[in-house]
Amino acid sequence: MNPANPTMNATFSEILRALEPARTVLVASHLRPDGDALGSTIAFALWLKSIGKEVAAWNEDGMLEKFRYLPEADLVAAPSGSGRKFDAFIALDTSVKNRLGTVLDAIEEPATFINIDHHISNARFGALNYIDSASPATGQIVFEFLKAAGAKITPAIAANLFAAISTDTGSFQYPNTTARTFQVAAELIEAGVNVGALSQAMYDTQPRRRLELLRHALNEVKFFFEGKVASFSLTQADVARLGVLPEDNEGIIDHLRSVDGVIAAVFFEELEGGKVRVSSRSKDPRVDVCKVCGLFGGGGHALAAGARMSGGIAEVAEKFLKALGDEVGRIA
Ligand code: 5GP
Ligand code: MN
Repeated sequence: MNPANPTMNATFSEILRALEPARTVLVASHLRPDGDALGSTIAFALWLKSIGKEVAAWNEDGMLEKFRYLPEADLVAAPSGSGRKFDAFIALDTSVKNRLGTVLDAIEEPATFINIDHHISNARFGALNYIDSASPATGQIVFEFLKAAGAKITPAIAANLFAAISTDTGSFQYPNTTARTFQVAAELIEAGVNVGALSQAMYDTQPRRRLELLRHALNEVKFFFEGKVASFSLTQADVARLGVLPEDNEGIIDHLRSVDGVIAAVFFEELEGGKVRVSSRSKDPRVDVCKVCGLFGGGGHALAAGARMSGGIAEVAEKFLKALGDEVGRIA
């Protein structure tokens, strides 16, 4: 442990030692979870169970329908109860505490608070922090951790970690994908991942309402700054009309980013209660969307970041696009 220097990483063996005496462990990840958040959570929980811990796996949004294909998906539940006691708590893929939603409200301060993540903007809010921003997915860190722990990588653990890594690297395409990522993927396949079936569930299966959302997005898309920025918006009225769920909009932004000449894409989603969720992507390392989101209290990665901003959707869009235009303009 490095209490004197909270910015320094704990080692895997320090984390293992801290977990050893724990009988009850809670694992959780960020709200509006993606494949990395849920896959890492399930894999970690399965390993803890296999070594005899009593485990709860929570996510603010519970288990999303679109990730039901993950083996042992039922392990994940929404936070419940109050004053719940756990000997240890592990936050995965979560850059700041408030991205855990109400998870911490439901529990008493655990003796051991562990934070494992790959976000460069991670606030190191744990007592033991393992943050590797060079890792393309929290799932890849969890894999290395489980190997260090001497864990048996069961087919269910392997599929969850493969899904975590595959989804967070855009199917092994983003620039932070390394040779190690492919080595890890190879080991996971050897451990029992059915690549064809899992990939079909991840990338080739969607509810029809998501196609309707894509139709809407393509109708609404706007270009700015000589076509270097593309954006689209989704209002509460659109959500009601299209009958879409929050989980449906993940990935729609990739269609905008893929356009020739577009450097950054942004999606504005009107939430209930006067807030707007901003989701942004860059495809040029010189354009740092994490920095832009940081101006508005958000964060994430240089090439994929988000924020929640107060105000009307048009006003938020104008403010954010202006800041993004400044960032894009720096490299023009
Ligand atoms: P997405 O655009 O897919 O929601 O998120 C992209 C990345 O930005 C993810 O790594 C996510 O954790 C991070 N992110 C999204 N929204 C927020 C936010 O409101 N605050 C912070 N700190 N990070 C965010
Ligand atoms: Mn992640």
